[in-house]
Amino acid sequence: MGGTALLRQLPKVDALLAQPAVASLADEHGRARVLELLRRDLDALRHTILAGQPVAPRELEPEACVARLERALAQQAESSYPAVLNATGVILHTGLGRAPLAVEAQTAIADASRYALVEVDRASGERGQRDRACAALLRELTGAEDACVVNNNAGATLIALAALAAGRPVIVSRGQLVEIGGSYRIPDVMEQSGARLVEVGTTNRTHLRDYSRALDAHPETALLLRVHCSNFRVEGFTKEVGLDELVRLGRERGVQVMDDLGSGCFLDLEALGLPPEPVVSASVRAGANVLTFSGDKLLGGPQAGLIVGDAETVGRIRAHPLYRALRPGKLTLAGLEATLKLYRDPARARARIPAQRMIHASLESLRPRAQALLTQLSALPGSAELIETASRIGGGSYAVEALPSLAVAYAPADVEAGAFAARLRRGTPVVFARVHEGRLLFDLRTLLDADQDAALAAAVRDACA
Ligand SMILES: *Cc1c(COP(=O)(O)O)cnc(C)c1O
Repeated sequence: MGGTALLRQLPKVDALLAQPAVASLADEHGRARVLELLRRDLDALRHTILAGQPVAPRELEPEACVARLERALAQQAESSYPAVLNATGVILHTGLGRAPLAVEAQTAIADASRYALVEVDRASGERGQRDRACAALLRELTGAEDACVVNNNAGATLIALAALAAGRPVIVSRGQLVEIGGSYRIPDVMEQSGARLVEVGTTNRTHLRDYSRALDAHPETALLLRVHCSNFRVEGFTKEVGLDELVRLGRERGVQVMDDLGSGCFLDLEALGLPPEPVVSASVRAGANVLTFSGDKLLGGPQAGLIVGDAETVGRIRAHPLYRALRPGKLTLAGLEATLKLYRDPARARARIPAQRMIHASLESLRPRAQALLTQLSALPGSAELIETASRIGGGSYAVEALPSLAVAYAPADVEAGAFAARLRRGTPVVFARVHEGRLLFDLRTLLDADQDAALAAAVRDACA
């Protein structure tokens, strides 16, 4: 059929609207939305025809238009933030929302999503402090005198620098002027806060005397800042000054010390053979005046910026006008409180907080699940094999270390691995996997449980069809 003939066959919007199926969709979803989708569909068809591209005449029949309308409405109803099965082996995957929350945190968030006791004191009925419960838990868990919570660690460093050092010098080692993913750079944050950056040392080596000389040259210095090099490692001929030494120097010279911990772990991971990530309570004991860290990195909670330190310093931060701009919402606070409570018992934190459970999972605990997944995928077209692989902690922690893990490597039949991975990303449930040397790798470590393993197998089967 020629283009003009096809164009004549295009149904009219009014005729479509008069169809009983469309009328009932309009009742359900609103006439304006249905009208808009119908027009968009007919426009797309018209363009295709005018461009001389092939269009099957049955695509122009009213039934086909109604079917496309139903699909479009269903698609619009779907969330843009659907749940994902993470088989990438990257535990704190920023693209997938970093830490998956503990069930306790999910429940607390669901409860708080109605009216909730956020900023009133229950006894007096007067206005209260919204992060009071999290602050109390942070005091208890870190040994710090006081604490407060903002939206993320970028916000925590910004407000701390603004409150403590605006208009004054802050001394930082050149080896610690880091960039974290998503264009967070220490020098830029420093500039936004109004503090003046004074760089000391060299890229690979900074000595205590470098700080000391900078203090001589800048007697009005407000802070000595240490930044944890979260996402890279300098190896070879290197030196950084320890927090203890910085604190000693700061006390001698009457200058405060701030520690940006990045991840801020509560559990010691050295037993896993991982190098020590700074444990928050150790930095508090070392005497830093203020420490900042993320809620959704190694802590495994919701996105939040946690600030702990001595009472006077945290008080100044809380009183700063930026606090109102950076304050977290009730959902964050509810999820954070539930997560922090789990840390009262380290064994419970390891068992209940998914990120910690994944980090601590032994190869042997993954093996039965890997075997079960292998059996399911072996029944599909293509080939499947159990392999040893390496998971990453991610989220700007443990830049170079990997955790030994198990994955099922799957080579689909008749389709390239990258194209199959794209199919899995578009499917329901959404699946993310690694593609390596022409195969998909499904790493068991970052799937939450056996139910997710089974859902993954079903999604792969659907993608084969
Ligand atoms: C991750 C990180 C930040 C930023 O934290 P967010 O919670 O992502 O805002 C800041 N400093 C360091 C050292 C980090 O590792």
